Amino acid sequence: MTFEELKLTRQFIRATEDAGYERPSPIQERAIPPIRSGQDVIGIAQTGTGKTAAFLLPTLQKLKFPQGLDPRAVVLAPTKELVLQIHQEAVNFARYTELRCLALYGGIGYQDQLAAAQAGQDLLIATPGRFLEIYQRGGFNPKKITTVILDEADRMMDMGFMPQLRLVQELIPSKRQNLLFSATFPERVQRLADEFLLWPTRVEATPESTPVATVKQFQAALPNVNTKLHYLKHLLTEQFPEARVMVFVREKDQAELIGRALDESLRSSVRTIHSNKGQNSRINAMELFRDGSIRCLVSTDVASRGIDVPETSVVINFSVPRDPHDYVHRIGRTGRAFRDGVAITLVDPSEGYALERIVELTQTPIDLLELPAGLPIEETPRWEKQAQARTIDGEMRKRDPNYKGAFHEKKKKSAKANRPAKKGNRPPKPKRG
Ligand code: AMP
Repeated sequence: MTFEELKLTRQFIRATEDAGYERPSPIQERAIPPIRSGQDVIGIAQTGTGKTAAFLLPTLQKLKFPQGLDPRAVVLAPTKELVLQIHQEAVNFARYTELRCLALYGGIGYQDQLAAAQAGQDLLIATPGRFLEIYQRGGFNPKKITTVILDEADRMMDMGFMPQLRLVQELIPSKRQNLLFSATFPERVQRLADEFLLWPTRVEATPESTPVATVKQFQAALPNVNTKLHYLKHLLTEQFPEARVMVFVREKDQAELIGRALDESLRSSVRTIHSNKGQNSRINAMELFRDGSIRCLVSTDVASRGIDVPETSVVINFSVPRDPHDYVHRIGRTGRAFRDGVAITLVDPSEGYALERIVELTQTPIDLLELPAGLPIEETPRWEKQAQARTIDGEMRKRDPNYKGAFHEKKKKSAKANRPAKKGNRPPKPKRG
């Protein structure tokens, strides 16, 4: 199929040519026709499938040319990074039109965004909170909005945006087109869809939760964090010395630890992002990674959702995500739109269960890698052994509520002996984000 056959007009076809798109992706083929005909649409598509263009192209085409001061369409997305990325894509697609697109997101002062909104816009791309704030400060009148797009709906639900989404819904005229895009479709997204959409058409790019077929998946068994660090350095310097790499961790402290440990060997080519980092530092790191000034980005799940850097060819899971859906999102950073990718997951003895859940969800085996000869294997410190034992106990108990737990039995016998000896030896408290 071609973009002409999808009935895009000349100015948008030219923009897709400029972006280097040769033909529509499957989600574009499936979603653009019902969106063009004005239907409500649920799109199940991971990032990397071309879903952003699938909703932006027909929406911009419907807006056609600038009209009045008030916006006529809004895209709501969970994070500022995603908002900025969608905005960039919208600006690119709208380049042969006069359409005005504005990004609204928190973490920086609202004044400039308020002034820009008041100056007149056609399409807003916003986080729900900042959208409401700019509205409340008189940035725009929402009564002209006739298209609402919820992007990464699963993540918006995870982040607790439901109350804000309800408020947004109340502000916008009920006669409108609603589009909802989500990588996964759990029950809470179904409920959101029931509230927001009317007789939606459902389109899917790949079967639910199946990682993009172009990603080759591997696992490596490593006893502890320090050995994982050695292996990570090996991967970055020996195995993939040129590649654009995203490294995922579960906790922000681990992101910092890796950032520091890698800096020694990789000098300035690494940045970390997580929710404690300031707005500017996160955007800056993203930009550097996108334009290739740095080649390795270390990130938590929360900070990374939806990040699109098509050149990313390797994803390394430094820790196994507990929620298998996060794994699907993580490896979706690579193998994007018509490119191949590799995902390598580093697994310590306590993470095997989480990996089993992933294989169960994705129905795809993950090949075991042989460790390189000469890789230093570190002793597991006592605090880490205990943390691993606790995780294993927790997993066993989930499977069998009567399971007594090796760790706790031991703890009872000699609670004192098990305490970390010195304060400095204790592991950092895990924090998500
Ligand atoms: P998305 O799934 O929207 O995050 O898009 C992933 C990447 O695919 C982005 O870098 C897009 O620019 C790119 N892309 C989207 N549609 C196409 C297409 N039809 N052909 C080639 N690349 C595309």
